[in-house]
Amino acid sequence: MNVIATSVFDIFKIGPGPSSSHTLGPMKAAGRFRQACAGLKKAALEKATAVEVSLYGSLATTGKGHGTDRSVIAGLLGWDPETVDPDAFDPLGTDPKAVYTFCAGKKEIPFRAGDIHFDTTPGNLPHPNTMVFRLKAGEGILLEQEYYSVGGGFILCRGEAEHPRPIPPIPYASMHQLRAQMDRLNIGLVELLRRNEAVVSGLDAERTDKGLDAIIDAMVSAVERGLATDAILPGPIGLARKAPVLLRRAQTIPDSPERFVILLNTYALAASEENAAGHRVVTAPTSGSSGIIPGIIYFAAKHLGISRELIREGLLVAGAVGGITRHNASISGAEVGCQGEVGVASAMAAAMIAHIRGCGMAVIENAAEIALEHHLGLTCDPIGGYVQIPCIERNAVGAVHAYNAYLLASAGDPARQKIDFDAVVEAMLETGRDMSERYKETARAGLAVCSIRC
Ligand code: SF4
Repeated sequence: MNVIATSVFDIFKIGPGPSSSHTLGPMKAAGRFRQACAGLKKAALEKATAVEVSLYGSLATTGKGHGTDRSVIAGLLGWDPETVDPDAFDPLGTDPKAVYTFCAGKKEIPFRAGDIHFDTTPGNLPHPNTMVFRLKAGEGILLEQEYYSVGGGFILCRGEAEHPRPIPPIPYASMHQLRAQMDRLNIGLVELLRRNEAVVSGLDAERTDKGLDAIIDAMVSAVERGLATDAILPGPIGLARKAPVLLRRAQTIPDSPERFVILLNTYALAASEENAAGHRVVTAPTSGSSGIIPGIIYFAAKHLGISRELIREGLLVAGAVGGITRHNASISGAEVGCQGEVGVASAMAAAMIAHIRGCGMAVIENAAEIALEHHLGLTCDPIGGYVQIPCIERNAVGAVHAYNAYLLASAGDPARQKIDFDAVVEAMLETGRDMSERYKETARAGLAVCSIRC
């Protein structure tokens, strides 16, 4: 069995927005290339004169809007995505004359934003998000590495399998197998996930909780920053933030079903707008979909009185849903469209809500299934390649949709559910394979084109 060995900390990663595949992944790849260069022999490094990066596929067509060049520069400079200072990060790459220093060991090599090339030439690529890094000595190449940003901030180097991880003690490769293991061992979902997490990440319970708390805190602060900022979002669209406007509206109306929905929308928008601004967010499972789970967590803690421990558990449950989907399909908009980003985030959130509302495994699975089922076929067509329209509102809609999926799942007899989660994941993969490449984060179809014509 090709088991899932994904840690919850692989799914939820702190880093700058707006796109895990176009921002976080390239930043990590540039950082890995920097380390690889530092490992070259001193005599080779002495000859180095330049560093050059080529971006292909979706990274080339929408990389400008996603700030891929800025992220590559930050990675080449050796900055850490988790601790990057937004004030220093924002201006990177904006001045074509600015000279940066790439340090390979003790060797310092100057480079500019112009050394990062967006190559939109059509061709057969090994992956829709391909990038090539070169360390040069004059016209010669000292080191060349090809990376693929495979979604959710995960990267692969050419010829490299995913990093081998310890096999979890309770292995599973699908939702069906996860359920079977729970039945076989007669243990609860969270107990099973915690046992596996301890082996896969190597963290004891205390350190796991500390890590989960850091994720929750980063999510909460993204929501709170978004609620407190009225600024126009960066980029040529000139999009005004909506979260503070909705919050003010919610504050004027009494507790009611309408206020409930407004607040759920508001919190998801707030985190998503912070992502669009390129600020620090948490992939959940991607940056483009990083408003949904933080919005629900914020809502649950503030308005439903859900405890920190239950929210930690909810993250583990959501992480398991994301891990199963990534293992058997994809969480990358460039591979399967937005169904793999907002659709999966909504499924993860629905499972999380079901858990924190005290539901059992059958309802948790059904909630995730319903949420993903009704995102099948969702394309990725961001206007101008900016993670703003339709992405930001789509996060708000995805959060409300997740709550609705939980309500639907918890209303009926779970045993009567006709479609299981694994089936809908398979359907998502098949739909993604049939989807035209133009609808996979290229900004060459759908809204990205029609909005210009209108
Ligand atoms: S449309 Fe969806 S998949 Fe595409 S960039 Fe926006 S959030 Fe990501």
